[in-house]
Amino acid sequence: MSAPRDFRQRAARAAANPAVAEMTGAICARIGGMRRAAVASFDRYEKVRELAAAIKLKNLDRLDEKLKVLIDRMQGHGAQVHLAVDAAEANNIITQIALDRSVRRIVKSKSMTAEEIGLNPALERAGLEVVETDLGDFICQLFDDPPSHILGPALHRTRFEIARLFSDKLGMAYDPTPGRMTMFAREVLREKFLGADMGLSGVNFAVAETGTLVLVTNEGNGRMSTTLPRIHVALMGLEKVVADLDDLGVFLDLLARSASGQKMSVYTSLLSGSRRPGEPDGPDEMHLVILDNGRSAILADPEMRPVLACLRCGACLNVCPIYRQVGGHAFGHAYSGPIGMVLTPLLVGLEEAGDLPQASTLCGACAGVCPVKIDHPRLLHVLRSRLDRAGSPLGGRVLLDAFAALGLSGPLFQTAAAAMQRALKLYAGPGRKLPGRLSGWTSCRDLIKPGGRSRPQGSE
Ligand code: SF4
Repeated sequence: MSAPRDFRQRAARAAANPAVAEMTGAICARIGGMRRAAVASFDRYEKVRELAAAIKLKNLDRLDEKLKVLIDRMQGHGAQVHLAVDAAEANNIITQIALDRSVRRIVKSKSMTAEEIGLNPALERAGLEVVETDLGDFICQLFDDPPSHILGPALHRTRFEIARLFSDKLGMAYDPTPGRMTMFAREVLREKFLGADMGLSGVNFAVAETGTLVLVTNEGNGRMSTTLPRIHVALMGLEKVVADLDDLGVFLDLLARSASGQKMSVYTSLLSGSRRPGEPDGPDEMHLVILDNGRSAILADPEMRPVLACLRCGACLNVCPIYRQVGGHAFGHAYSGPIGMVLTPLLVGLEEAGDLPQASTLCGACAGVCPVKIDHPRLLHVLRSRLDRAGSPLGGRVLLDAFAALGLSGPLFQTAAAAMQRALKLYAGPGRKLPGRLSGWTSCRDLIKPGGRSRPQGSE
């Protein structure tokens, strides 16, 4: 069955399967709890967070300059640097690098940017074998599922489903023990690494001053993908550049804590070019593909520019009440949760993804946990107002204008609120629903009577 185009339909489909909310909610609650504990035990957390947000914004102001330095340094290390305006160009560049060098198998470590541009299908169309090597991504690839979370791509699958998959596709005797399945996957992937001609990776940070690409992983597959095959291709969005190693230290203090509640990830790899004469390890060739794909337009948009500060830690997904109910696939694009609600419409256009900014309760939980202080609710407000200007129906605009006028006048608002309260007292109650076009508000709950006037604290 093909996926519905509209968020509302995809979310309804996800909500119809209670396992989605059960699995997603439970795992997000667990990771969210780990983040809270890690942050609580880091006494400089708020100061470092302030600093990280300021550094990101400063870097974005001087991105051109930083990118020039990065390119210069990377070329000095022997890396070949390619600039891609959009997804099609990035896919062509990477496919051509592989075809020109008679590559047959590519091992790939986690890259949300590769998901964004549809890199795997493009490589496979050219006859190349692509093997995901992050365990979660490997499971998704075997299921033919897109990732459902930035950090835990397969968190929507149970270990029993995975055991059945490994049995059917890899020939492992059915055994839903996570440790044994992991060891089995490790053996399978080890063979894939050893027979690969090219490694593909994302980039968490690119340090301009030293020409260093930084990869933050927990499984070691990033190191294998980038150092074992004879060619390494790294793909990064142009906003990933940081000025120097001091700035990098600030982000490393925050990334793992925010993502998984760890002080540091298990592996932090710093890669500075291909193997030099006399060095025992590393690829013969290194390529860096720097992707724009709409980022320059976001950079030029002062209201939305802060979204480019995102570290892709996933913390905002874990606390989002919408994401926890419907999971990542309901968002229909590579980025889900609050960051997806903001970033996706900017990358693909409001015409294509205008329903995503509406998919938020604006509760603000996302902004509260973001390590670089992205204010998602504010950005969502901006996108919603652009959507209104761009063409909500006349009736809707008149209604919103009337509501705004009501909200701006104290006496009018109080009169309307009192009338509404009286109406609700008469009509609302168990089993009562709103009629017609308002029915969506009560599709999952009854219309309840308003409570009485709340008493001041401390009164009897
Ligand atoms: S928006 Fe903030 S919390 Fe969400 S993924 Fe990006 S850095 Fe993490």
